Amino acid sequence: MALLIRNGEIVTVGSRVQADIYVENETITGIGKDPETPPNTEVIDASGKLVFPGFIDPHVHIYLPFMATFAKDTHETGSIAALIGGTTTYIEMCCPNRNDDAFEGYQLWKSKAEGKSACDYAFHMSVTKFVKETESQLRQIVADGTASFKIFLAYKNFFGVDDGEMYQTLELAKRLGVIVTAHCENAELVARLQQKLVAEGKTGPEWHEPSRPESVEAEGTGRFATFLENTGATGYVVHLSCEQALRAALGAKARGVKINVESVLPHFLLDKSYAERPGVEGMKHVMSPPLRAKHNQTALWNALAGGSIDTVGTDHCPFDTEQKLLGKDSFVNIPNGIPGIEDRVNLLYTHGVQRGRLDLDRFVDAASTRAAKLFGLYPRKGTIAVGSDADLVVYDTNYRGVVSAKSHHVNNDYSGFEGMLIEGRPSVVTVRGKVQVRDGKFVGERGRGKMLKREPSHFCL
Ligand SMILES: [Zn+2]
Repeated sequence: MALLIRNGEIVTVGSRVQADIYVENETITGIGKDPETPPNTEVIDASGKLVFPGFIDPHVHIYLPFMATFAKDTHETGSIAALIGGTTTYIEMCCPNRNDDAFEGYQLWKSKAEGKSACDYAFHMSVTKFVKETESQLRQIVADGTASFKIFLAYKNFFGVDDGEMYQTLELAKRLGVIVTAHCENAELVARLQQKLVAEGKTGPEWHEPSRPESVEAEGTGRFATFLENTGATGYVVHLSCEQALRAALGAKARGVKINVESVLPHFLLDKSYAERPGVEGMKHVMSPPLRAKHNQTALWNALAGGSIDTVGTDHCPFDTEQKLLGKDSFVNIPNGIPGIEDRVNLLYTHGVQRGRLDLDRFVDAASTRAAKLFGLYPRKGTIAVGSDADLVVYDTNYRGVVSAKSHHVNNDYSGFEGMLIEGRPSVVTVRGKVQVRDGKFVGERGRGKMLKREPSHFCL
């Protein structure tokens, strides 16, 4: 099957060019003007539109047992929502907890995705303890194509690792050339502050943020950086939310620590007043790290524009209203998370590019290319080039719409971004040469997505 995308403006990092893209089977085989097209070529007219490489969400949760319940999406629903929003690859956190066997967990997470996802996917393997068999299991998992790890400094006794386990994980990752992603909050301080606030009768969702203040995240970020510095491993801070933590990360980077930074959509657009809304409305906006004081958003946008925040993910993690109400008597029991997989690209385009905070180059880098490079997917993903997978997003910058749970495809009864305007959306989305989305509708093949095998790429002296 051949596909021709004609007359679009192709946007990649460092380049904007008006040209046609020719695709055979799953791969881009030509870029130019009026290429020869055999009969039976499907032609898409992209006149007046931008053509981006398929977007990559480097941080999602699809299958997730957490806080006595399960996140709502499956790979069927999550991948369709992702594709409608222009995301053609996501990297899911594989999160067995401390009581689970890591390798069994890895197989379980893989089995939930296989044959189900409509877009391509990969995993970050969580290391939630470091015991006798951990090294050999992780070696097997890396050999299977999962070349990134995740550690949690938060969530004591569940996902969280102690400093010794963090050291062992980083030391192994360094030898294997594997990048380590980290949730950076001080678990002990979170546990103590939660206890203190609850004992004072401060149990509403508005107390979630004070139980994990900015300094707690900055400490975790700084400690992770110090461990990277002393092991020589390469790291990636997930969902960095505030200026204090940003300073800790960038200070380390300035002294040569190999640390990369992700922030996630909610922290650019929402502030802590959302979680201070009464009752379940506040609970819907409880995530960790929490939504912050508004001034942090300026710091995040500036760092993103300048490239010191590398990527924008979502930490997509949908719990519905009923599940959020598990925390009605105490914020400690509110399942953490907010959906975002469908909205990331459009809201980042709207509030970044359309509002003049982000140039197109940085937009495509932060939402696609940089993640592909960091996580061993480049140039197969993250760019438009001959030989790359034909994951393409024909983007209509004239579209105007509104984010709403009434029309979204995520399996959740609310949207954290309800009512926000979007100025632009994908009109065509392809995954390896096949049209999966047209104008907000899934028109493709379910289960088409493949697990992307990745080679370790973070070797250094
Ligand atoms: Zn997460």
